[in-house]
Amino acid sequence: MGKQEDFVLRALEERDVRFVRLWFTDVLGSLKSVAIAPAELEGAFAEGIGFDGSAIEGFARVHESDMLAMPDPSTFQILPWRGETPATARMFCDILMPDGTPSYADPRHVLKRTLQKAAEAGFTFYTHPEIEFYLFKGKPGLGEQPVPVDDSGYFDHTAQGGGQDFRREVITMLENMGISVEFSHHEGGPGQQEIDLRYADALSTADNIMTFRTVVREVALSQDKWASFMPKPFTAHPGSGMHTHVSLFEGDENAFYEAGAEYQLSQTGRAFIAGVLEHTPEITAVTNQWVNSYKRLAGGGEAPNYVCWGHNNRSALIRVPMYKPHKGGSARVEHRGIDSGCNPYLAFALVLAAGLKGIEGKYELPAEAEDNVWGLSENERKAMGIAPLPRNLDEAIRTMESSELVAETLGEHVFDFFLRNKRAEWQDYRSQVTQFELDRLMPMV
Ligand code: GLU
Ligand code: MG
Ligand code: MG
Repeated sequence: MGKQEDFVLRALEERDVRFVRLWFTDVLGSLKSVAIAPAELEGAFAEGIGFDGSAIEGFARVHESDMLAMPDPSTFQILPWRGETPATARMFCDILMPDGTPSYADPRHVLKRTLQKAAEAGFTFYTHPEIEFYLFKGKPGLGEQPVPVDDSGYFDHTAQGGGQDFRREVITMLENMGISVEFSHHEGGPGQQEIDLRYADALSTADNIMTFRTVVREVALSQDKWASFMPKPFTAHPGSGMHTHVSLFEGDENAFYEAGAEYQLSQTGRAFIAGVLEHTPEITAVTNQWVNSYKRLAGGGEAPNYVCWGHNNRSALIRVPMYKPHKGGSARVEHRGIDSGCNPYLAFALVLAAGLKGIEGKYELPAEAEDNVWGLSENERKAMGIAPLPRNLDEAIRTMESSELVAETLGEHVFDFFLRNKRAEWQDYRSQVTQFELDRLMPMV
């Protein structure tokens, strides 16, 4: 038993923990949880807890369904919304096959494997997500329109606004769980919120995002509200992105920083962006995984719909933000494409893999898009080599299908499952007759 395991076993007694929840994430990004009694934990650390993988979205084929959840003691935290005594705790798990090898289906493992690849090249990958979501008055029933908690907009200070108290409670809980929050504010849409987590290594951030979504849902329910990370709940209001600031470190040095270079951006930073841009069409089915994701990327609402980069250009997919030159350590680039409905483990793994490919292959960064790319004509964009993002899930899947980079990064099992699942989603969607069609066609056709 290692030191961290000992610490957890002691904490169980000191904090009067009665339930230990073991958390992991399925391929589509839903949190899974099994509660065990504290007495079971020592065994769980040694041998894992068995479960039926074939019942988890994307996990296993029926004939090899036994899997093990191995708790990661470094992720031990008390769940603040479950009360103090007796307390409930949680740990994230790694998923193993019965022979002890990592499960090919575990998204956490997909990210770990990619981080390992980065480590072999000398890099640590950091991410800082800005998570947007909508807060509604209650859970809408089937066929009902969601009703936002307020009519406010970007940065609005809403007197007695439900959003403020809500954000304050979410942030207090997150801080109690060791997750630091940097900023929070009202976003552009009615009832839309943004909370930005402090940067951390990408595995911790991905775990933190899963915790964040749970805390947000719990707090919303405790206030008779409903929170949704759906990428685009309203036609007329902006969608919910999960802009992610990314950087690579080599030891203590920020590898994206070079004093005196254009935008203080190093050659490594330029090649990283070039890799992400080049491979974006292939990885978009994962960073934007739902039929609905493409409504957000359809143009407008400050969401990108072209593959380009810019300096402080908010219409670009990749933005190189301004930072104070003496703060070289904070050099980073903002990926504005990822949405709040993604599986963060898989999305981070693919953005990293694309960036590493750019570094390995010494990709040249294309010219920056200095203008608002939405204001250019189609021909101007073509002349500048600015390609559109996939326009819908079907296009995104078709591009992903032939991607070696995605197949290699996700591994064959996750790659095949994901494509199969998303083809089925598209098939269900494309046969739907929508209100839009009825409203348009009934009067005239
Ligand atoms: N909500 C916008 C999006 O979907 C982003 C707004 C912002 O710039 O923060 O990406
Ligand atoms: Mg925002
Ligand atoms: Mg942003």
